[in-house]
Amino acid sequence: MTSAPEARAITSPANPEIKRIRGLALRKRREEEKLFVAEGLRHVMEALEAGWPVATLVYQAGVAKRPKVAEAIRATLAAGGRCLEVTEAVLAKMTKRDNPQTVVGVLPQRWQALDEIAPGKLWIALETVRDPGNLGTILRTADAVAADGVILIGETCDPYSSESVRASMGSIVRVPLVRVTARQFLDWRETWPGRVVGTHLAGDADYREVAYEPPVLLIMGNEQAGLSEAMAAACDRLVKIPMAGGADSLNLSVATAVMLFEIARERLHL
Ligand code: SAM
Repeated sequence: MTSAPEARAITSPANPEIKRIRGLALRKRREEEKLFVAEGLRHVMEALEAGWPVATLVYQAGVAKRPKVAEAIRATLAAGGRCLEVTEAVLAKMTKRDNPQTVVGVLPQRWQALDEIAPGKLWIALETVRDPGNLGTILRTADAVAADGVILIGETCDPYSSESVRASMGSIVRVPLVRVTARQFLDWRETWPGRVVGTHLAGDADYREVAYEPPVLLIMGNEQAGLSEAMAAACDRLVKIPMAGGADSLNLSVATAVMLFEIARERLHL
């Protein structure tokens, strides 16, 4: 097995460092260690380009000389991170995939504080979002319209879970994240200088008829329960997306995408 000079080659999935990374599959461990796992060279490079340090870079034996991998190794070591060269079997065990990516990054989680939020143009607040696939997809769409960030209200799924990170397709490193209780959010909302728009199946306005002057704060409800009464009462407008067929609602990430592209339409000429 060839090794980069600074790397330590690992062949056993029982190696303590590999076990520690595998442990990050659990939310509890991710929160204790304030870390998450990004799979694939593309996502690792995107993180590095976004100024996000890689704490540990794991790569498959034999790929270290590829130019992009060599660049990722250099950047990781320069920022004080570690590099681990491993076998394909170790990577497969670590990521629970038969055909694992050849590069995996362990990165620090980043959370912005509520009082650090600058209104900017567009923030999205998600009340008790439960599905990590929805959350990752929303992060990807928020990135696509250059939203300023996403606020997670109450008991939500973890944006740093592997499912959410995968669904975000790299956007997780470009979209600022804030997490708050409902009480903290409702207090902070009083200081919001612009319009607060909620989406609701019983909204009194068609979403296409509202002027979305920036800064806009868009609030989306939970997958099952929708917007709580307290959140709905905190909105200046409650809008609905008209539907013609038999479906009683849209999927949360689909509804968020419809809203974001409507809000961004004039501003971004999309
Ligand atoms: N049973 C829930 C309800 O009564 O609201 C359905 C929730 S829906 C799956 C999840 C979220 O997506 C909603 O809270 C809302 O924010 C948004 N949403 C979905 N379809 C919508 C529509 N047609 N109009 C407005 N918002 C919608």
